[in-house]
Amino acid sequence: MTHSTPTFQPVLERPEPILSIQGVARRFVTNRHDTTALSSLSFDVYPGEFVCIVGPSGGGKSTLLNLIAGLDAPDDGAVLFEGARVRRASQERIVVFQEPALFPWLNVRQNVEFGLKLRGVKGPALREAVDRSLELVHLTRFEHAYTHELSGGMKQRAQLARALTVQPQMLLMDEPFAALDAQTRDVLQLELQDLWAKTGTTIIFVTHNVREAVLLGDRVLVMTPAPGRIKAEITVDLPRPRNLESHSVVDLAARVRAELQHGPAESEENGGASA
Ligand code: ADP
Ligand code: MG
Repeated sequence: MTHSTPTFQPVLERPEPILSIQGVARRFVTNRHDTTALSSLSFDVYPGEFVCIVGPSGGGKSTLLNLIAGLDAPDDGAVLFEGARVRRASQERIVVFQEPALFPWLNVRQNVEFGLKLRGVKGPALREAVDRSLELVHLTRFEHAYTHELSGGMKQRAQLARALTVQPQMLLMDEPFAALDAQTRDVLQLELQDLWAKTGTTIIFVTHNVREAVLLGDRVLVMTPAPGRIKAEITVDLPRPRNLESHSVVDLAARVRAELQHGPAESEENGGASA
């Protein structure tokens, strides 16, 4: 796990991409369907960036995250992480799902320490890493609670804390707030920005919520319907923390929505059905 990129880089000098998607294609053939989920997909992500991806459901967004995570392999093209081909899953690239996958027989702390324990971390090092993650997601008070005692937002926080304990270089977030009520989502959006600023982790965040994408992202990539490619890239050059209701956020969101709507009818109100 070499980490050659200095933390403070002169702003003018663009570093090497941490992730490079080069002409990627992924096709699924089953008895009943032949689906090309992704085709000729290319883009780069730079260290420390917060990149949001929006696109119609069924457009290959989850497929893309699986490829980056190393849970699946492309049929064509290459997924390069720090210049090397992604061949398997790694703690450097952790996926955060819409539905938190927590172990119901473990409490919050035990869930959060799970990945580190697997790697043989124990004692004070383990305790400190878990304390830090719980603090980052504001879950310290609930460390002894079990899954069934947690609200949706708290479960999502626990999942995020578990991902953060292994200090991944990249978080891959697949519509993580889509199942939450609006207030909880607002709070978690703010907390995620804060957490990103504190950790410097590169984030790729998939959402069908256009305003969420503009609120969070340094850049918003708009994907086409399947086979998914990047059809537009919108740079969000607005100061942080951003406000969901501000004119600049609303205006940019309208631009992103206009790009999306050149495809089949799909909007943030009805686009939640992705698998
Ligand atoms: P999104 O996340 O953008 O909603 P997905 O990446 O989940 O889209 O899916 C893209 C397309 O690929 C869909 O048509 C889906 O049915 C298909 N697909 C995804 N995974 C598989 C799989 N393992 N086997 C067969 N088809 C799949
Ligand atoms: Mg999906």
